[in-house]
Amino acid sequence: MKPGGRVAGYAGVLVLSFAVAVVSSYTPLGRQIDNDAYDWMFRLRKPSPWTPQSVILGIDEASFQALGGVRGLRGILSDVLERLAPLSPKVVAVDLTLSDAGEPAEDARLEAAMGRTGNLVLAAELMPGGTAWQDPLERFRQHASAVGHVHAAQDPLDGVNRQVPLEKAAGRERHWALSLEAYRLSRGAARIVESPEELRVNDLIIPARREDARAIYVRRLPSGPHGGTAIPRISAVELRDDPAAAESLRGKVVLIGVTAQSAARDRLMTPYSSEQPMPGVEIHANAFETLAQNRFVKAAGDTEVLLACGGATVLAGLVFWLLSGWAAYGTALGLLAAATALPYALFSRDTVFPPLALVASAWLSAAGAASYQHFTARRQLRRAEAEKTRYQQAVHFVTHEMRTPLTAIQGSSELMSRYNLNDEKRKQIADLIHSESRRLGRMIETFLNVERLSAGQMEMRREQVPLSEVVQVCLDRAQALADRKQITVERTVLEDATLAGDRELLEYAFYNLLTNAIKYSPSGARVTVAGRQASAGFRLSVRDEGIGMDRKEVESVFRRFYRTRRAIASGEAGSGIGLSIVEQIVSHHGGRIEVESAPGKGSCFTLVLPVPGDGAAG
Ligand code: ADP
Repeated sequence: MKPGGRVAGYAGVLVLSFAVAVVSSYTPLGRQIDNDAYDWMFRLRKPSPWTPQSVILGIDEASFQALGGVRGLRGILSDVLERLAPLSPKVVAVDLTLSDAGEPAEDARLEAAMGRTGNLVLAAELMPGGTAWQDPLERFRQHASAVGHVHAAQDPLDGVNRQVPLEKAAGRERHWALSLEAYRLSRGAARIVESPEELRVNDLIIPARREDARAIYVRRLPSGPHGGTAIPRISAVELRDDPAAAESLRGKVVLIGVTAQSAARDRLMTPYSSEQPMPGVEIHANAFETLAQNRFVKAAGDTEVLLACGGATVLAGLVFWLLSGWAAYGTALGLLAAATALPYALFSRDTVFPPLALVASAWLSAAGAASYQHFTARRQLRRAEAEKTRYQQAVHFVTHEMRTPLTAIQGSSELMSRYNLNDEKRKQIADLIHSESRRLGRMIETFLNVERLSAGQMEMRREQVPLSEVVQVCLDRAQALADRKQITVERTVLEDATLAGDRELLEYAFYNLLTNAIKYSPSGARVTVAGRQASAGFRLSVRDEGIGMDRKEVESVFRRFYRTRRAIASGEAGSGIGLSIVEQIVSHHGGRIEVESAPGKGSCFTLVLPVPGDGAAG
């Protein structure tokens, strides 16, 4: 392969590896792998603990039992708010939907309790279908400092909650998240300032982009007593019965919600929860803590991911292009380790980098580059071996085929120098030396041409060659040989055709068939030459009535140096290389050779050459 082609092939392998890696990271399976990797890193690299600013006030099973069952939820909430008021919490966020009117007396009590609660945040929930809001009843809402949505993002693939969208819109109305509103009120900020890339509350900059629905990754205080997070949690019934526990709520941000397994509809799986889903109110408390601690995890952008993947691919390519052997494999292993470790290193610096695309780019391109180099090296080795074989065969040829004319020349020249010969004899011998040396020259020329052709070092000449001329030249040349054995060479049907090809090579091929037919026929036999246009091409054949060959022998005659037993026994000189050259010449002309033969009956060799029907080759 030319160097240019090799570079292109190599680059192709790399580009393909890169594309497969990136595309696979966008498939559901790929995204799930990235999710699992995130959860794994999330659990492995727990944040250093902090003092929570929020408390979860959970309405659990015990509270329902002690305070009046699920139907009495509003009563329980009124009770909780009434008991909270004297503790002056900083913010009270209620994660309960209060959009329908209830028992009038209960609603009146609840409304009154809300009226006495400062910095109250109420919950809004999207209607099923997400087209409108279920806002709290106006009588409640009027007492609230803010209304926040209580939706947590559930991953579409595995349903796990990793993020909370800080903004949600339906119709014309939108709400900030309950946790964000609670944070804003806890900091006494009047409003939330927005830009496409971030939100701002007083001094806090929240890296929540508009195009991601202002989603933030939720940081969670690692494993608390409930198997979830370590945000303190007290229940409604503890608030009633345990004054010390109640006191812990003083001045805190209190998030009220249902935590009873049987009643909470908003429980979600999180990277922490192995079996137990986490109640919504705890998810919101964690989102609040993430804001309050200013501990944001940023997601790496698509461009950054693609650049890193491209970088890994290029590096893998360079490693196997510039280095070889163990140096290449060692460096590649280092690269793979780095690519595999990078997402984790970034995660510990609060950046989420989906690992699959990068790891797959590095591995695929390293494997692709290594295999490519391996196979091209093997191919080069094979080519070198083939060249060596050809060289050895050439040496064989020289020693076999050229010995005959050389011996003739040597013998004749020796005669001339040793003996005093008369003029006529001298001329005869000089003619012989001349013709034998010319034959030798032609032979060398033909042989070299065929060698160069098959090595791809030479373009075949393409002149217009009338085949009848080729036949005639060969018949004339072989006449003496035929006469010596009293063999008649007959031309039967001999149509003419013109072929674009190499005249010398074609003459060599046909002459070889002709002399073989004469050599391997008994004295007095007949050899027939025929040529005619057929649909598959021009068929030029030489038929004899000689020794013939069986099927096995026919299969072997094109092998170099192969001679049949009958041919050796005939006493005719030969080297067994002629037909292999004939076959190469014919195939270089786009044709083929056919053999029919039967032992003792004779053979017919036919050259089938591609000649255009009108006789003018292009
Ligand atoms: P060479 O004639 O120098 O031995 P070739 O390559 O031309 O070499 O032919 C290879 C072998 O094929 C011959 O040795 C012979 O055994 C067989 N062969 C070729 N032509 C004929 C033929 N016309 N009749 C019988 N055998 C043939």
